[in-house]
Amino acid sequence: MASGKRYDTIVVGAGIAGISSAYWLREAGQRVLLIDKKGLLAGASGAAGAFLSPRLGRGGDLQKITNEAYRFALDFYARTVAEGFFQKGLVRIPKDEKDAEKFAGYEPFIDVPYERVSAADFPHIDPDAMRYGAYFFPDAAFVDPMTVAKTLTKGIETAWGIDARPEFRNGSWHAGRFSAESIVLATGAECLPIEIPYITIGGVWGERVDVRTDAEIPVTLHRQLSVSANVDGIVRIGATHVRNDPRSEIERVNQLLVDAIALVPALQDQQIVRIYAGHRSSVSDHFPLVGSVADSVRARETLGTPPRSVKPESAGIPGMHGCYIVTGFGGRGFVFGPLMGKMLARKIVEKQPVDQRVSADRYLLRYLRSPE
Ligand SMILES: Cc1cc2nc3c(=O)[nH]c(=O)nc-3n(C[C@H](O)[C@H](O)[C@H](O)COP(=O)(O)OP(=O)(O)OC[C@H]3O[C@@H](n4cnc5c(N)ncnc54)[C@H](O)[C@@H]3O)c2cc1C
Repeated sequence: MASGKRYDTIVVGAGIAGISSAYWLREAGQRVLLIDKKGLLAGASGAAGAFLSPRLGRGGDLQKITNEAYRFALDFYARTVAEGFFQKGLVRIPKDEKDAEKFAGYEPFIDVPYERVSAADFPHIDPDAMRYGAYFFPDAAFVDPMTVAKTLTKGIETAWGIDARPEFRNGSWHAGRFSAESIVLATGAECLPIEIPYITIGGVWGERVDVRTDAEIPVTLHRQLSVSANVDGIVRIGATHVRNDPRSEIERVNQLLVDAIALVPALQDQQIVRIYAGHRSSVSDHFPLVGSVADSVRARETLGTPPRSVKPESAGIPGMHGCYIVTGFGGRGFVFGPLMGKMLARKIVEKQPVDQRVSADRYLLRYLRSPE
């Protein structure tokens, strides 16, 4: 437990975004304090199935950055958290004929190892579910969130029970009884603890469930919902995406179980071990949001309506002294965490620009360019 001393950086939020950032800041030699109003993995990160799966698509930027993060994450967890890393592969199954056509359109853009598979390759999956074929991603994996969190925070000072409202005074950031040169806002889908007029965080609520079963499930599969490989008798099933859904949590979870059994009939024997729920954070373009927080008042004064030549991470964008953000990981927090945390740490410590595709500046520029 930390006392009231001064740090290089205080990271607010002990989800995968904050934990990864704190890890890389410490690796870079900083004195870091990680704080949370509740505790380690109290938000969405504690609810995640923590599947590491590639994004399919038509080769756009979101697919590219997701799969860069995916490759980075696989290597990172395998090296750093080997005991909580389960590389079982993933079978992605189209849900109907239309979906199968979509998958075929994605195939030329798949930028990670894969192979086409059929029902005969995976006898534990209902053959009818596989009637349009499927794709197998042998590198895909999942992690145990708590093992990741405990391993990455080893040696990092933490303080829980602090609902931070950071303030910048006398050249330092103050949060609770602590102060630091820099502050990182890693507060997930919750309201930002300082006002940033150009950023709106949204989110999608979701549930997942762990079941105990004797079913032999050697690989993870995904067909609208995910069913993990069986590790020590436990299978993860998820997740729901709750938008204006009048059903209760237990009704939604029951439907997950029904759908999972339809995919893997041997799951009939399942017994619920635990239900998890959380709020995934996202911004409107669905890319992660990483980097400096800009001083929007000064930016409007100095940049006016910035021309298109002003890009995210341009030198002329005035920052709020020592204030950074990392959020918007959507349904892929454990995929994005390691790479985004590293980018942010390099920004803070080495003043390296973050990748423009994820830079928080993109929202500042949109804000300044939109009519007031
Ligand atoms: C059901 C479900 C299944 C999912 N499955 C997967 C999956 O398979 N793979 C995957 O990669 N991702 C998955 N996700 C998404 C993943 O969980 C999120 O992308 C990720 O957890 C977001 O991490 P975060 O650190 O940004 O936010 P969070 O984990 O929500 O962390 C934010 C933290 O900030 C703290 N906080 C907020 N405000 C303050 C404040 N003012 N002061 C102090 N502390 C504060 C909160 O207490 C919380 O601990 C899933 C999510 C859900 C809900």
